[in-house]
Amino acid sequence: MSAGACIFCKIARNEIPAKKVYEDAEVFAFNDIRPQAPVHFLVVPRQHIVSLAEVDATHAALLGKMFTLIGQLARAQGCENGFRTIVNTGRVGGQEVYHLHVHVIGGSEPLPAMLKW
Ligand code: AMP
Ligand code: ZN
Repeated sequence: MSAGACIFCKIARNEIPAKKVYEDAEVFAFNDIRPQAPVHFLVVPRQHIVSLAEVDATHAALLGKMFTLIGQLARAQGCENGFRTIVNTGRVGGQEVYHLHVHVIGGSEPLPAMLKW
Protein backbone atom coordinates (compact mmCIF):
# COMPACT_ATOMS: atom_id res chain seq x y z
CA MET A 1 0.00 0.00 0.00
CA SER A 2 1.26 3.48 -0.82
CA ALA A 3 1.84 6.06 1.87
CA GLY A 4 -1.00 8.12 0.40
CA ALA A 5 -3.61 5.49 1.22
CA CYS A 6 -2.05 4.24 4.45
CA ILE A 7 -4.18 4.82 7.55
CA PHE A 8 -1.23 5.58 9.83
CA CYS A 9 0.23 8.03 7.28
CA LYS A 10 -3.21 9.70 7.28
CA ILE A 11 -3.09 9.94 11.09
CA ALA A 12 0.44 11.38 10.82
CA ARG A 13 -0.91 14.06 8.46
CA ASN A 14 -3.95 14.70 10.71
CA GLU A 15 -6.27 13.63 7.88
CA ILE A 16 -8.09 11.25 10.18
CA PRO A 17 -8.45 11.77 13.92
CA ALA A 18 -6.60 9.92 16.63
CA LYS A 19 -5.90 10.56 20.30
CA LYS A 20 -2.22 11.41 20.04
CA VAL A 21 -0.16 11.02 23.19
CA TYR A 22 3.13 12.17 21.63
CA GLU A 23 4.52 13.62 18.41
CA ASP A 24 7.69 15.11 17.06
CA ALA A 25 9.28 15.47 13.62
CA GLU A 26 10.03 11.74 13.27
CA VAL A 27 7.78 9.76 15.58
CA PHE A 28 4.22 9.93 16.88
CA ALA A 29 2.11 7.87 19.27
CA PHE A 30 -1.65 7.52 19.66
CA ASN A 31 -4.19 5.41 21.49
CA ASP A 32 -5.26 2.21 19.75
CA ILE A 33 -8.87 2.42 18.57
CA ARG A 34 -9.54 -1.14 19.84
CA PRO A 35 -7.62 -1.23 23.12
CA GLN A 36 -6.61 -4.65 24.45
CA ALA A 37 -5.87 -3.29 27.94
CA PRO A 38 -6.51 -0.08 29.92
CA VAL A 39 -3.35 1.40 28.37
CA HIS A 40 -2.80 0.59 24.68
CA PHE A 41 -1.05 3.00 22.39
CA LEU A 42 0.99 2.68 19.22
CA VAL A 43 4.41 4.22 18.59
CA VAL A 44 4.85 4.93 14.90
CA PRO A 45 7.55 6.46 12.67
CA ARG A 46 6.33 9.19 10.32
CA GLN A 47 8.29 7.44 7.57
CA HIS A 48 6.18 4.80 5.82
CA ILE A 49 8.11 1.63 6.64
CA VAL A 50 5.95 -1.40 5.82
CA SER A 51 7.00 -3.66 8.67
CA LEU A 52 9.87 -4.77 10.86
CA ALA A 53 10.78 -7.22 8.08
CA GLU A 54 11.61 -4.25 5.80
CA VAL A 55 13.84 -2.49 8.34
CA ASP A 56 17.51 -2.11 7.45
CA ALA A 57 20.58 -0.28 8.72
CA THR A 58 19.32 3.05 7.34
CA HIS A 59 16.52 2.89 9.93
CA ALA A 60 18.73 2.21 12.94
CA ALA A 61 18.63 5.71 14.42
CA LEU A 62 14.88 6.00 13.91
CA LEU A 63 14.17 2.68 15.62
CA GLY A 64 16.57 3.60 18.38
CA LYS A 65 14.65 6.81 18.90
CA MET A 66 11.31 4.97 19.01
CA PHE A 67 12.52 2.54 21.64
CA THR A 68 14.22 5.29 23.61
CA LEU A 69 10.87 7.08 23.88
CA ILE A 70 8.72 4.11 24.89
CA GLY A 71 9.62 3.92 28.58
CA GLN A 72 8.87 7.56 29.27
CA LEU A 73 5.65 7.49 27.23
CA ALA A 74 4.49 4.35 29.05
CA ARG A 75 5.20 5.91 32.45
CA ALA A 76 3.32 9.06 31.41
CA GLN A 77 0.31 6.86 30.55
CA GLY A 78 0.40 5.22 34.00
CA CYS A 79 2.55 2.14 33.40
CA GLU A 80 4.95 2.72 36.29
CA ASN A 81 5.37 -0.98 37.01
CA GLY A 82 5.87 -2.31 33.53
CA PHE A 83 4.21 -2.83 30.21
CA ARG A 84 4.42 -5.03 27.13
CA THR A 85 5.62 -4.09 23.67
CA ILE A 86 4.51 -6.02 20.59
CA VAL A 87 5.47 -5.62 16.93
CA ASN A 88 3.24 -7.79 14.76
CA THR A 89 5.01 -8.50 11.48
CA GLY A 90 3.56 -9.80 8.24
CA ARG A 91 0.83 -12.39 7.69
CA VAL A 92 2.25 -14.86 10.20
CA GLY A 93 2.58 -12.13 12.81
CA GLY A 94 -1.03 -11.05 12.34
CA GLN A 95 -0.14 -7.57 11.13
CA GLU A 96 -3.26 -5.62 10.10
CA VAL A 97 -1.80 -2.22 9.30
CA TYR A 98 1.24 -2.34 7.03
CA HIS A 99 3.03 0.67 8.48
CA LEU A 100 5.56 -0.23 11.17
CA HIS A 101 4.27 0.32 14.71
CA VAL A 102 5.02 -0.79 18.24
CA HIS A 103 2.08 -1.65 20.49
CA VAL A 104 2.58 -0.52 24.10
CA ILE A 105 0.16 -2.31 26.43
CA GLY A 106 -0.34 -2.11 30.16
CA GLY A 107 -2.46 -0.78 32.97
CA SER A 108 -3.77 -4.14 34.18
CA GLU A 109 -1.82 -6.42 36.44
CA PRO A 110 -0.79 -8.98 35.51
CA LEU A 111 -1.16 -8.88 31.73
CA PRO A 112 -2.36 -12.17 30.21
CA ALA A 113 0.12 -14.81 29.12
CA MET A 114 2.19 -13.58 26.19
CA LEU A 115 1.35 -16.43 23.79
CA LYS A 116 -0.84 -19.51 23.70
CA TRP A 117 -0.42 -22.11 20.98
P1 AMP B 1 -1.43 -4.73 13.93
O1 AMP B 1 -2.26 -5.99 13.94
O2 AMP B 1 -0.19 -4.85 14.75
O3 AMP B 1 -1.18 -4.23 12.53
O4 AMP B 1 -2.30 -3.66 14.69
C1 AMP B 1 -2.93 -2.57 14.10
C2 AMP B 1 -3.62 -1.83 15.21
O5 AMP B 1 -4.05 -0.58 14.71
C3 AMP B 1 -4.86 -2.54 15.77
O6 AMP B 1 -4.68 -2.77 17.17
C4 AMP B 1 -5.99 -1.55 15.50
O7 AMP B 1 -6.94 -1.51 16.54
C5 AMP B 1 -5.25 -0.24 15.36
N1 AMP B 1 -5.91 0.75 14.53
C6 AMP B 1 -6.40 0.58 13.28
N2 AMP B 1 -6.95 1.72 12.83
C7 AMP B 1 -6.79 2.64 13.81
C8 AMP B 1 -7.15 4.00 13.95
N3 AMP B 1 -7.78 4.68 12.98
N4 AMP B 1 -6.84 4.63 15.11
C9 AMP B 1 -6.22 3.97 16.10
N5 AMP B 1 -5.85 2.69 16.02
C10 AMP B 1 -6.13 2.02 14.89
ZN1 ZN C 1 2.05 4.64 6.20
